[in-house]
Amino acid sequence: MTAFYDITIPVWDGLAVWPGDTPYRFELSWKMVEGASVNVGAVTMSTHTGTHADAPFHFDPSGATIDAISPEVYVGPCVVADVAGFDPIPADALAALDLTGAPRLLLKTGAWTDHARFPERIPVMEPGVPGWLASRGVFLIGLDVPSVDAIDSADLPNHHALARSGVHILESLDLRAVPPGRYHLTALPLRLAGADASPVRALLTPG
Ligand SMILES: [Zn+2]
Repeated sequence: MTAFYDITIPVWDGLAVWPGDTPYRFELSWKMVEGASVNVGAVTMSTHTGTHADAPFHFDPSGATIDAISPEVYVGPCVVADVAGFDPIPADALAALDLTGAPRLLLKTGAWTDHARFPERIPVMEPGVPGWLASRGVFLIGLDVPSVDAIDSADLPNHHALARSGVHILESLDLRAVPPGRYHLTALPLRLAGADASPVRALLTPG
């Protein structure tokens, strides 16, 4: 079997969600211990639970929904970059990266490690970064924190700037075990009709 990094945060009922958002809950609605012929579960969760992809409809009422985004965005060559210590994250911190043939970039901030507690503060990219990413051919940005904007941001400038630049968003990756470098990413959203986001199972295999 190919060696891989699973960069998906486990989803369990203790996983921190955005303050006020729907907590994750799994229940068996049919139970074999109660005589049913099978176990069948039901899940209640936010579309932004754990590791997930945001669709433009999340922050733009006329934006694309998650089922309308090509799955090719989420599968293919990517670069993992270590940006720990930067807050904000400037384009200068990314300037030396070789993104040739790797239009997906995952930023390792190291700022969220206890997934049972929602972070009070996270590093965010400088306003010029979305345009810089697009100029380098990047169409997917991923971070290891729950947002591409500050936690207390109401107007979500980076979400909007990324969308204007044609850059899609992955949030809440777990990159702790991953050395910076080049990989092949697989992080497919569910095909949820009309949804603003979807959890993904995210893997990195040798690129
Ligand atoms: Zn989100």
